[in-house]
Amino acid sequence: MRDRYENFIDGKWVAPIKGEYIPNINPANHNDTIAQFPNSTAEDAVSAVSAAAKALPAWAALSSHVRGEYLRKAADVLASRLDEIATGLMREEGKSLPEAKGETMRGITLLRYFAGQCMLPDGDVIPSASASTFLYTKRVPLGVCSLITPWNFPIAIPIWKAAPALAFGNTVVLKPSELSPLTAIHIAECFEAAGLPAGVFNVLCGEGVRVGEVLATSPDVTGLSFTGSVRTGKHLASQAVAHGKKYQLELGGKNAAIVLPDCNLDQAVTLTLQGAFKSAGEKCTATSRVIVHKDIYDTFVTALVQKTLTLKVGAGDTDAYLGPVISAQSRDRVLRYIQLAQDEGATLLCGGDAPTEGNLANGFYVNPTLFGNVTPEMRIAQEEVFGPVLAILRAEDLEDALTILNGVEFGLSASLFSKSLDSAMVFADRANAGLVRVNGETAGVEPQAPFGGMKGSSSYSREQGLIARDFFTQVKTVSIDRAG
Ligand code: ADP
Repeated sequence: MRDRYENFIDGKWVAPIKGEYIPNINPANHNDTIAQFPNSTAEDAVSAVSAAAKALPAWAALSSHVRGEYLRKAADVLASRLDEIATGLMREEGKSLPEAKGETMRGITLLRYFAGQCMLPDGDVIPSASASTFLYTKRVPLGVCSLITPWNFPIAIPIWKAAPALAFGNTVVLKPSELSPLTAIHIAECFEAAGLPAGVFNVLCGEGVRVGEVLATSPDVTGLSFTGSVRTGKHLASQAVAHGKKYQLELGGKNAAIVLPDCNLDQAVTLTLQGAFKSAGEKCTATSRVIVHKDIYDTFVTALVQKTLTLKVGAGDTDAYLGPVISAQSRDRVLRYIQLAQDEGATLLCGGDAPTEGNLANGFYVNPTLFGNVTPEMRIAQEEVFGPVLAILRAEDLEDALTILNGVEFGLSASLFSKSLDSAMVFADRANAGLVRVNGETAGVEPQAPFGGMKGSSSYSREQGLIARDFFTQVKTVSIDRAG
């Protein structure tokens, strides 16, 4: 570990032009400064975008097989550094070591998966009206892509954007969150060790507000892929539209699980808690509402409270179930929502405060919190909290539960716990969410399947899976005829 890291631009590690740095703090212990990272400015962003533009023609001209080989090599380097990179991720993000390792392994899988996609057909042969004409389509790269990512999945999200971008011939400027830059540096080191040509993958660290405009509006940029808050996403999208860029946004969620009387109770309790409290609830797919049929409400809530009271809070390298939230600011925001829910009349069933004993006093922890008697119009039932807080709502029947589930501005993920095939099929048809699961938690995605939300959760685009290609390529229609 070094005391200070630099940006990765044009294949070199370069200091920010204005020489400004910001510390990266361990959320489990605010006395632990991991290192200093560049707080880049617009000038650094221009330099990163120029490097990506310069590298584009040669990278786009390579055979996709060759590009896939670079991704495979980067995956091998990442695999050889798995423990070290996962430990760094845990230290800067706060999630448990097994979760950090799982996420790093997902990064490896994503690189290998998109390397495989480099060998798939990339167009169609279309019968022309003319017998002598060869008419076909071909996928071609978009160009330079700006990738702006959040802190909660510091390896999975950058790689699920960068791997398809690179596989399909684009060059990239990655702007990771200022709260998790170390993992982005580690990703760049893996690409560097894989021998990726200079300028194909660049990392620009620092606060988004300082570099966002260049990344969204530079004439050299064609695509912008963003994951983060609704406010920032909408702002960036308006800039991208005004400058004619292709963009995709992955934003928030207010995901719900529906529990019916014919569920497997143990499964429903375990997976609801997992969805709500793993990673301290800091997943856009986290379960933040559970909608319980009135006939099982008391039984389910009693079991949920009992189990929640056994969950241990602590640092990622202990056997704790959930770690800290990302920052003091986040903790305070979560605590304000907890107060607000009480003011609105919800019943606090457990948690509701920040632990202060021993080492926990030095981290940004919130105890896992359950609210009963929540009604759909309460803000705790409508707004994304992004912390370990679960709102419990009561429903008359599946119809009522679906109305509650769909009655929010978001539509990212949803689940149903039931043994009934009929209920499963009605739920799968009617839940207004991009990811719906029966007898599974709302969180958790598979890299080979499309990921994305409906309504306010995304810009109607999807990431990962085969569909990732739609964003990172454009279609060229080619018609070739004989000369005479
Ligand atoms: P979160 O609350 O998840 O951190 P943000 O939207 O604030 O959500 O941050 C997600 C990413 O967007 C981070 O990399 C952050 O630095 C970046 N970001 C924040 N504000 C801007 C902005 N004005 N322009 C571009 N990027 C931004």
